[in-house]
Amino acid sequence: MKCPYCGALDKDHVLDSRPVREGESIKRRRECDACRGRFTTFEEIEILRLTVVKSEGRSREPFERSKLQKAIEIACKKRPVTAEQIENVITDIERMLYSRQEKEVPSAEIGEMVMERLKALDQVAYVRFASVYRQFEDAQQFRQIVDRLAPRRTARGSK
Ligand SMILES: [Zn+2]
Repeated sequence: MKCPYCGALDKDHVLDSRPVREGESIKRRRECDACRGRFTTFEEIEILRLTVVKSEGRSREPFERSKLQKAIEIACKKRPVTAEQIENVITDIERMLYSRQEKEVPSAEIGEMVMERLKALDQVAYVRFASVYRQFEDAQQFRQIVDRLAPRRTARGSK
């Protein structure tokens, strides 16, 4: 920070910090070590905006947690999947998306991430999500999704 009194650069220290505007920015009380002048700064927190690119890059929309949540909730309706499990799936996916530091993500990739996690949680929810998400064009595609479940079933059936 540049001191507004003497112009010294980065010679200040922070006396007090607190979030303002619902945590969207931080107010800091600073003191210049060169001239002892005190001043206040407001720092905006940079939020990484993630854009979802729809099929074939034709349309884009901002990533919305609530949308993802709704889609998963519909797939899990009346299934033995808890709200906490859904929450964990979303948080896990969000963390993966944001950690990549990329500004755009194909919707297909998010769909695959959800499917992978639902498959481990509940197979009915998985097939439901896949059928909506993939919007099966033919019966063959649907079979492929169901076939992906097959090894798991076989493993459980055999002794
Ligand atoms: Zn100063």
